[in-house]
Amino acid sequence: MFESAPDHRRRRLLKAGLAAGAAASLPLLPGCGGTPAEPKPGDAAWHNWSGGQKSNPKAWLNPRDESELIAQMRAAPASMRVTGASHSFSALCKTDDTLFSLDQLSGVVSHDPVTLQATLWAGTRLRDIGEPLWQLGQAFSNQGDVNPQSIGGACGTSTHGTGATLGSFSSMVRGVRLVTAEGEVIEANAEKDADVFHAATTSLGALGIVTQFTLQNRAAYKLQEHEWMENLDSVLGKLDASVRDNRHFEFWCFFEAKGAIVKTLNETDAADTPVPSFELPVDHILDLTSKIADSIPGMDGPMQRFLTAMYSPVQRVGRAYAIFPSPRNSRFNEMEYELPAEKGAECLKEILETVRKSDVRTLFPLEYRYVAADDCWLSPMQGRATAAISVHQHHSVDYRPLFDLVEPIFWKYGGRPHWGKLHTLDARRLAPLYPHWDDYQKVRARLDPKGRMLNEHLKKVLMT
Ligand SMILES: Cc1cc2nc3c(=O)[nH]c(=O)nc-3n(C[C@H](O)[C@H](O)[C@H](O)COP(=O)(O)OP(=O)(O)OC[C@H]3O[C@@H](n4cnc5c(N)ncnc54)[C@H](O)[C@@H]3O)c2cc1C
Repeated sequence: MFESAPDHRRRRLLKAGLAAGAAASLPLLPGCGGTPAEPKPGDAAWHNWSGGQKSNPKAWLNPRDESELIAQMRAAPASMRVTGASHSFSALCKTDDTLFSLDQLSGVVSHDPVTLQATLWAGTRLRDIGEPLWQLGQAFSNQGDVNPQSIGGACGTSTHGTGATLGSFSSMVRGVRLVTAEGEVIEANAEKDADVFHAATTSLGALGIVTQFTLQNRAAYKLQEHEWMENLDSVLGKLDASVRDNRHFEFWCFFEAKGAIVKTLNETDAADTPVPSFELPVDHILDLTSKIADSIPGMDGPMQRFLTAMYSPVQRVGRAYAIFPSPRNSRFNEMEYELPAEKGAECLKEILETVRKSDVRTLFPLEYRYVAADDCWLSPMQGRATAAISVHQHHSVDYRPLFDLVEPIFWKYGGRPHWGKLHTLDARRLAPLYPHWDDYQKVRARLDPKGRMLNEHLKKVLMT
């Protein structure tokens, strides 16, 4: 199955291509293919990673410590929101009032070498904590595709990776320290203030601002990554076995190419793969590819087939925290729904068939992953083993034709939207999907009776 030794250069090209090259119908301007600068407190305006959400906070605060945060929250004149890395595609963080960043509340508060739990400041970025946790003998049991996110944001939306036995970040939470809009500090866990704890594991930042999360980690470990191209029908034909036999299994499949890229991660004690000494200027090649696809109508399919044809397999070994993230060097918008695991493949086939029959196009592949069931009240994985399907469109292309076509298919299969990604559901449609909806709402109303943590988006998705 693995035809060659690791080829990082071609792999990076394809990976970024999958993320960026899909730019088929996009009018790419010089320089617009690169990762945008992350907005920071003090900037004139706030925007999310894709640039699709923008606002002008009256104050964008970056407290030095928890005491300063409490004082600033008490003094905030109107509503307030908190942001981590602003990687959510939905309008969760958008506000023209007060916005908080917790960038200075970062790092390890404490850790327990016996239980392998660690209490982390909520502003800690995933990319900054892998090595410190490794030094403590700990690691997250799973991570998603990228690692700039904050712990607060990852838990705030149930950010997940792939692996049928592995839950989202929210499922790893064992305790929270939360500051309400009125400045009250609550420490909650499964025994103490259990209702606040269950609501705060996936809070959407609507209960207050969490300053610390205690996470259940595991012993530090290494992963071996295998990635290869395979016909989609063949991948789907042995799906159950692939999911069962690998710690992490996922694939990306295309609307106009038959091959799917399959990726597995499994624990290993093998030696680390050396870091390549040379890398191709990936962004420039992909911008060029995208411009060709854009300037010649009907080139989406050929460009997809070109990108898949030049693919070469990957084998890579390293510390888990270094193996999980992949480059995402071009901006896109994304919709993702979490489906009952047993319905995932059928839903995927219907999406592929529907889009292929339509005039709607995207060069981006669909991403297909698995997540374990959890018990977090507002987690999309609550109470059910999950197959997660993501649809992407380049940031400069109107995503609505594609997402409007696909979203009703997700509904048909009982999907729950990823809170951090684009969807059109409101509270009336979301409430029946969550058995603990009313429990969460009671906690939210008690902790924030004046609705000071809400913005327009949260009023839409939370207020019936
Ligand atoms: C390129 C890219 C790749 C991605 N890959 C994945 C993936 O593999 N898997 C996946 O599941 N998702 C993925 N996402 C989505 C992303 O992980 C989530 O949207 C996540 O919430 C972003 O984290 P953040 O720190 O940027 O949070 P933000 O987007 O800034 O905030 C998210 C939510 O958390 C709340 N919040 C943040 N900090 C706190 C706090 N301290 N207390 C209370 N609430 C808080 C915010 O108010 C908001 O409601 C990806 C997004 C991008 C742009």
